[in-house]
Amino acid sequence: MLRKLSAVLLLAALPAQAQQVTDAIDPEIAASGATFGELTEASDASLSAKAAGTPVDAEDWMIVAAHPLAVEAGARVLRDGGSAADAMVAVQAVLGLVEPQSSGLGGGAFLVWYDAKSGELTTLDGRETAPLDATPTLFQTAEGETMGFFDAVVGGRSVGTPGTPALMEEAHRKWGNQPWAGLFSEAISLAETGFTVSARLAESVAGDTERLTRFPATSAYFFPEGTAIQAGDTLVNPEYAATARAIAAHGAKAFYTGPIADDIVSTVRTAAGNPGVLSAIDLAIYHVKERPAACAAYRGRDVCGMGPPSSGALTVGQILGMLDAYDLASMEPDSAEAWRLIGDASRLAFADRGLYMADSDFVPVPAAGLVDPAYLASRAQLLSGDRALSEVSAGQPKWDHAAVDYAPDTSIEIPSTSHISIVDAEGNALSMTTTIEGAFGSKLFVRGFLLNNELTDFSFSTHDDGRPIANRLEPGKRPRSSMAPTIVLDDGKPVLVVGSPGGSRIIGYVAKTIIAHLDWGMDVQQAVGLPNLVNRFGTFDVEAGTDAGALVEPLSTLGFKVEERDLTSGLHAIALGATLQGGADPRREGIALGE
Ligand code: GLU
Repeated sequence: MLRKLSAVLLLAALPAQAQQVTDAIDPEIAASGATFGELTEASDASLSAKAAGTPVDAEDWMIVAAHPLAVEAGARVLRDGGSAADAMVAVQAVLGLVEPQSSGLGGGAFLVWYDAKSGELTTLDGRETAPLDATPTLFQTAEGETMGFFDAVVGGRSVGTPGTPALMEEAHRKWGNQPWAGLFSEAISLAETGFTVSARLAESVAGDTERLTRFPATSAYFFPEGTAIQAGDTLVNPEYAATARAIAAHGAKAFYTGPIADDIVSTVRTAAGNPGVLSAIDLAIYHVKERPAACAAYRGRDVCGMGPPSSGALTVGQILGMLDAYDLASMEPDSAEAWRLIGDASRLAFADRGLYMADSDFVPVPAAGLVDPAYLASRAQLLSGDRALSEVSAGQPKWDHAAVDYAPDTSIEIPSTSHISIVDAEGNALSMTTTIEGAFGSKLFVRGFLLNNELTDFSFSTHDDGRPIANRLEPGKRPRSSMAPTIVLDDGKPVLVVGSPGGSRIIGYVAKTIIAHLDWGMDVQQAVGLPNLVNRFGTFDVEAGTDAGALVEPLSTLGFKVEERDLTSGLHAIALGATLQGGADPRREGIALGE
């Protein structure tokens, strides 16, 4: 039922800094996703549940991730009594092999953990880090011009110190109960005996031929005998098996020091045409940072996730915090009215994100102020009209300490990445988004895995009009992320675990899923499958080929610039209620599996 919003008109004066952020480019490198039938090694029960649009139901544990082989590796661990942290290690080890374009040992990740025994929420920051030799102008030419995006990405320059192996080890050390080495056995045996190339991997390789074939090691793996790997091929990766064996036997230090580390460094520093500055010392000193969860109130729940250096939790929290003032439940999920509110709340949040959010170990970030209910209530008043906002600019949240007059950031993110959601039999919940940044990262391949291009998540400019950009590059700093691994708590207990890949659209994908589940009462499979509509910088992106096409005209009439496009989220969600319900995004190859 549609209910008209009361037309209390906006009174708040717009702050001076009009948002300069331009719409990020999105060359759609990633393939649009395989159909279910194209997957050769799928887990049938959960796939048919996904195809039928119903969630997977289970009593004890649930796991949702981007590839059936990875999910099954994690499921075996959970069946043996392993924790969600143990299962994550097995899942990540397999994902790095079978979905190498999205995440792996050469990348970074953020993890949110709900501990059933203590009731506490912890977040771990395993983000890639800028090398100590990196300068703020790393992505500028000798003339001080910012480099072309892919000129920066491809090669060694964009490679940050990987964090994923250290994160896997730290999560296992804190919450694991299974022997570490055994968690790699599935990945090792798949790497040695071969796995079936999925349609999505094959399409991604074919779509990125020119850049992948610039580097001999990358080319040899993805283009054996000069031809791109095809869906259905069996691919072996003995070097990955050897790397996984070394980490299994000796822990993450086998990655961060010694011959694997030496090879990473030399691959980065000798990358043809675009060498980087990573050193052995960067790898040797890498560490995971435990940080407080960033939470925002929504419909009486706490929506919690990863704070800075990710903008994920703060921006999702801002969107929801503003929408808390509006009764979305009384509006239809396909109504222009609901999406006007969601779209403009998102634009307002992205204006703050562009100005204020970055690695808070390096620059002051008004983290608490950005999700302060009073601040969000005042921002929410801007939405009380009945047309699209004609101008959007950042607000003025309260600073904890020093205030800085920042210039907005214009960094670009190219969608790739993977999300893992797990609930174990003890009731622990894990939400982890893991990435090598763009598809195939820097395109550099060493020891069986790809190296990230995470440093291009920094702003290429350091200043704008004399004002510093919060997300400028600095040695040892972690680039701002959009990853939003989320756990929603009701009265301190988890009710929803969710996250997605998708570059800065992750924020909209996650917000949509939470709204669909909490406001519109959809189960998790319906919620993740609901068409995506995302508005970050002014253009309302509406998912092509879906029912949301019917909203193009009404949203345009409300004053939005609307574009239909592929919006390939990879949402993986688990609802915790009387049972566990898992939902896997039909746009990608992932599945939910539970018992
Ligand atoms: N590098 C991005 C981030 O950290 C993720 C890229 C993606 O999701 O595709 O936000």
